[in-house]
Amino acid sequence: AQLDTLDLVVLVALLVGSIAYFTKGTYWAVPKDPYASSANLNGAAKSGKTRDIVEKMDETGKNCVIFYGSQTGTAEDYASRLAKEGSQRFGLKAMVADIEDYDYENLDKFPEDKIAFFVLATYGEGEPTDNAVEFYQFLTGEDIAFESGATADDSPLSSLKYVAFGLGNNTYEHYNSMVRHVDAALAKLGAQRIGAAGEGDDGAGTMEEDFLAWKEPMWAALSDAMDLQEREAVYEPVFSVEEDEMTTPEDDSVYLGEPTAAHRAGQPKGPYSAHNPYIAPIGESRELFTVKDRNCLHMEIDIAGSNLSYQTGDHIAIWPTNAGAEVDRFLQVFGLEDKRNSVINVKGIDVTAKVPIPTPTTYDVAVRYYMEVCAPVSRQFVSSLAAFAPDEASKTEIVRLGNDKDYFHEKITNQCYNIAQALQSITSKPFTAVPFSLLIEGLNKLQPRYYSISSSSLVQKDKISITAVVESVRLPGASHMVKGVTTNYLLALKQKQNGDPSPDPHGLTYSITGPRNKYDGIHVPVHVRHSNFKLPSDPSKPIIMVGPGTGVAPFRGFIQERAALAAKGEKVGTTLLFFGCRKSDEDFIYQDEFKTYQEQMGDSLKIITAFSREGAQKVYVQHRLKENAPLVSELLKQKANFYVCGDAANMAREVNLVLGHIIAEQRGMPAERGEEMVKHMRSSGSYQEDVW
Ligand code: FAD
Repeated sequence: AQLDTLDLVVLVALLVGSIAYFTKGTYWAVPKDPYASSANLNGAAKSGKTRDIVEKMDETGKNCVIFYGSQTGTAEDYASRLAKEGSQRFGLKAMVADIEDYDYENLDKFPEDKIAFFVLATYGEGEPTDNAVEFYQFLTGEDIAFESGATADDSPLSSLKYVAFGLGNNTYEHYNSMVRHVDAALAKLGAQRIGAAGEGDDGAGTMEEDFLAWKEPMWAALSDAMDLQEREAVYEPVFSVEEDEMTTPEDDSVYLGEPTAAHRAGQPKGPYSAHNPYIAPIGESRELFTVKDRNCLHMEIDIAGSNLSYQTGDHIAIWPTNAGAEVDRFLQVFGLEDKRNSVINVKGIDVTAKVPIPTPTTYDVAVRYYMEVCAPVSRQFVSSLAAFAPDEASKTEIVRLGNDKDYFHEKITNQCYNIAQALQSITSKPFTAVPFSLLIEGLNKLQPRYYSISSSSLVQKDKISITAVVESVRLPGASHMVKGVTTNYLLALKQKQNGDPSPDPHGLTYSITGPRNKYDGIHVPVHVRHSNFKLPSDPSKPIIMVGPGTGVAPFRGFIQERAALAAKGEKVGTTLLFFGCRKSDEDFIYQDEFKTYQEQMGDSLKIITAFSREGAQKVYVQHRLKENAPLVSELLKQKANFYVCGDAANMAREVNLVLGHIIAEQRGMPAERGEEMVKHMRSSGSYQEDVW
């Protein structure tokens, strides 16, 4: 029978809708990474390294730019996914751009028939991400002026059409403030937003679903505004992945896990940064907990001779390596086991598509060192694999998972599967047809993890301490333990360093000696990130610190510093710490050290503890804070700085509330005044948070 027109329309709509799910992927952005492939460097040279986005789009024939402001890679990933979907479903000529790589003074020249997307994460206390600071300052500055001479009064951005999505976390006070402020600033300058400004909430754990729900109406609005025709989307690779049978992994040109070309050549050199880590020796490592079933690591990272420096309160980033067991699983699931050591060349097919991993490399190395293969999986990405399923039954199951949010949550999200585990739960057959390019596009780059430095730069300027609790959790409903990538790698390094007979915790088998054995003798790649979490410059000022669990990390540094100053005869103000853990004889970390500091500092150091599992009732730091309201209030009157570090979701929020109550109650004010005082303390820098 012939299909009538209505049937056809419905069929096409269904096809396009479901194919949209199969098209998740990435247009990778301009890397600042020094290991960009030679193909890309040539590409960049050909098209000229301009900072003028209008010129760049003209040169490369683009009509859509997707700017991202990203700190941990999620915004960058969303930007790439939007670019890919825009080009495959709607024929947009899309490019992704790191917002820091372009100038903003000529945005008033942005052509009317093109579109700019802003995918912007909010970081910390409502701040822009590092790469978006300049853009934010420009757009929200007092006397904004464009190259053409146009000012804010001229509606200078009236030709700019834009789409906006923000990534935020509602447990922070300034929820999604970056996208809100940028959206308001663009509107004020006359730019025209297409669709609603989306907001994803990491705090509620709904980021991915918020994104999926936002983008469909956005695409509809954009199709109207730009007169786009939706079309049948098929997977178009962004990268070519070619196996090179002539080259062996031992060849000097092949990346075996090194972060940059200089590292590969065995001559890494500074300045070390977020794009060029220092391979640091671990001087010493030890266990801080006394219980067997949980681990908390103390490590001393030696930065002598690296020219790296830090200040008390800064963060250090650790570049991890995936566990061997998970690398094996991934390679097995995608049928790559037999050729894991084959050399591959990855190239961008489009000039603006930059390869996110160092190349040439091998499948094994790409998965072990460069790709985030253990993270939770997105519904859209799983859907994109349906077209490559090994049989009809698994294809049907994947399509169902892709289309049914609740089913996906039950079967995948709640089970805490990573991508390989998710596919193993569907079928035991390998997914040999999945193009490796799709995996590179669909998974994030392996991200460094940050740690609050737990030493004082005054006391040990060449040795950075970290205090890290090893993530090994069985989440409710899940059938297996989730093992954190970085902390279990660090645990393995500690075991090895201390001569433990079984250096690989839980059979995870790490490549401890690193690429070409360059990490032998226990080294780990690191970089330092400066933070605003700082002691008062005048040590005689009192301080109040609330840091349960590993939240005590930076406060160990603070106390170490104040004890050293006291020992030098300086006047040091009251140093009050609220610390909490489960039991005094299990996880009261640095207990002995604190006793020594107490001897050095006398009464000026006060440590108030809350042990949640010792009494009939659970006691947390916020309860102790409340019990000590008069002392807290007195210290605040003496202009104490107040610091909170650790769990952002619950503890930091509660402490904030309790402090408001304390101020109100102790000063006889209405509750709202107490809250306002805390807000004021935040904006003036006397209330500082370091939370995650
Ligand atoms: P990851 O692999 O990143 O996993 C983290 C968590 O995600 C897991 O525990 C699990 O709950 C969840 N997860 C992972 N995979 C899945 C999955 N497939 N399905 C479902 N859930 C999953 N930590 C400290 O211990 N000490 C510090 O001093 C410290 N300071 C920090 C400072 C800052 C500024 C920031 C941002 C974070 C800080 N952290 C600190 C946290 C630290 O950066 C890491 O997030 C933490 O150590 C876990 O890293 P990981 O690689 O071991 O775990």
